[in-house]
Amino acid sequence: MQTPRGTLYTISAPSGAGKTSLVATLLKEVNHLCVSVSHTTRPMRPGEEDGVNYHFVSKEQFSAMLSKADFLEHAEVFGNYYGTSQAWVEAQLDDGQDVILEIDWQGAEQVRKLMPDTVAIFILPPSQQALRERLIQRGQDDHSVIEKRMAAAVEEMSHCVEGDYLVINDHFQQALNDLKAIVHTHRLRLARQQTHHAELLRDLLA
Ligand code: 5GP
Repeated sequence: MQTPRGTLYTISAPSGAGKTSLVATLLKEVNHLCVSVSHTTRPMRPGEEDGVNYHFVSKEQFSAMLSKADFLEHAEVFGNYYGTSQAWVEAQLDDGQDVILEIDWQGAEQVRKLMPDTVAIFILPPSQQALRERLIQRGQDDHSVIEKRMAAAVEEMSHCVEGDYLVINDHFQQALNDLKAIVHTHRLRLARQQTHHAELLRDLLA
């Protein structure tokens, strides 16, 4: 059996929609699926780990990577820079892994232009109130940051119409099942199955 090239997914959501927990569980339950660890200039939050949640770099290090064209995409979000390593993503896809980029809509748009086969997923909360409560419960940001994030959330959510799939995270398990269904569906697409089952198809069609 040949290994088909992996599928690239962008998953975008306003902060507090539950994207990170959903993706973490998805990775545990689905094989041959990985998430890109972005580079960022934002300060580390309590509980975060360098190289796990992000590669935390200085503005100078980020600029140096940018000038070497190391990033597949990059964006400024809340005054901090975020970028995705092109070499790492390409290596995983070539190895047959499906790759998730947890990035904002600006990044998703850049990736879509460069790699039109990318599948764009948006995760939305069930209401604005639920989003605000999740941001407060997270306890990571002060009041003014939460208000800034709420305004940015509405802007981020307005771009959901540019995606391919929309998942509402009202019930965690349902949203997780929806994400699994999307990944599974793309693995059954003809082009992938033709590579994966090339020998079988040769035999069947002989
Ligand atoms: P946070 O700082 O809360 O982890 O993330 C803030 C926003 O930056 C989120 O919308 C997240 O999806 C986005 N983000 C994280 N990494 C990247 C990246 O590599 N590229 C882009 N374009 N956005 C990113």
